Amino acid sequence: MPQDSPQQPQRTDVNELGEFGLIDHLTQNFPLRNPSSLKGVGDDAAVIDNGKFLTVVSTDMLVEGIHFDLMYTPLKHLGYKSVVVNLSDIYAMNARPKQVTVSIALSNRFSVEALDEIYDGIRTACEYYKVDLVGGDTTSSPRGLVISVTAIGQGVKDKLTYRNGAKVGDLICITGNVGAAYLGLQLLEREKQVYLASPGVQPELEGHDYLIGRQLKPEARRDMIDAFEKNELVPTSMIDISDGVASELFHISKQSGVGALLEESGVPIHPDAAMQALEFKLDPITCALSGGEDYELLFTINPNDVDKVKYLPDIYIAGEIVPKEDGVKLNTKGGNLHDIQAQGWRHFDPSKLVR
Ligand code: ADP
Ligand code: MG
Repeated sequence: MPQDSPQQPQRTDVNELGEFGLIDHLTQNFPLRNPSSLKGVGDDAAVIDNGKFLTVVSTDMLVEGIHFDLMYTPLKHLGYKSVVVNLSDIYAMNARPKQVTVSIALSNRFSVEALDEIYDGIRTACEYYKVDLVGGDTTSSPRGLVISVTAIGQGVKDKLTYRNGAKVGDLICITGNVGAAYLGLQLLEREKQVYLASPGVQPELEGHDYLIGRQLKPEARRDMIDAFEKNELVPTSMIDISDGVASELFHISKQSGVGALLEESGVPIHPDAAMQALEFKLDPITCALSGGEDYELLFTINPNDVDKVKYLPDIYIAGEIVPKEDGVKLNTKGGNLHDIQAQGWRHFDPSKLVR
């Protein structure tokens, strides 16, 4: 390098790319070399061809202070949730989880008893979802707790559901209800702020069991995968709702090369979530679309299959896949069309919430 013109090394802030831009950037020059690597980066799980069965693999990491706050997250629930969020990605491929590995990094703040609590939760999830804990890694961290879980599942070739299979005319379906986990989190955050300001004040969480349960103890929709099998339904595309309906719909649209028209009236919102949103002076549909952590499923079906879902409990038809040129839009109850924005990382100031 010439002495007289010192080169400034380029420094790009990670936030400039955003979460999804960063993943694309980091993984762009990794072509798949093995024919058995059927699906690499970009879906809920990777897919590996093992002959008769396909192996489906997904990893998620939970970091203290980012994904959970131990001020209001019981350790047992944390263990449970860290497994469930991974299983959800396997079900989103229309596959079934069989094994998990669990890796933890912990500071000396955590006792054996505390770790036992976490593993109690992990065990409960393994029992309920019938998966085996088969390995992991344990290391120390300078501060805080990190839990990384990898789930390994099994699927059948012509039944796996990717994010890229949605076709124009397909119907968009959502299971359960969305937005509740986000509102549960806002309630917990609000009470934390109140407590920090005046530690003597009792938390006001009574009557909010449903919303708080949705945040602290989510379940993965194994029952839906069972229902699909029983009714011989294979969705054309599927994703689990971890980042919010808006973000997930954007993934399906982008990867399928289509647009989407979502009907506000078709998006299922639990009455407790709708009430709490209004109390926080938030729009329920915004919470439902941008909230996240519901771990419900968003999927598309061929319209010929409509009878197969119409009578299934807990599945709601919420819109239609449209040509790409039409974009990803929300048709509001008032009949207005709005663009739906994709979101990755979000910043939220809980101190703005009213009590
Ligand atoms: P989900 O929300 O379903 O867990 P993510 O948005 O975390 O999915 O990840 C999207 C895709 O990018 C997945 O295929 C995941 O395996 C992949 N991915 C995420 N982070 C990385 C990374 N650092 N290196 C390689 N692949 C990654
Ligand atoms: Mg996912």
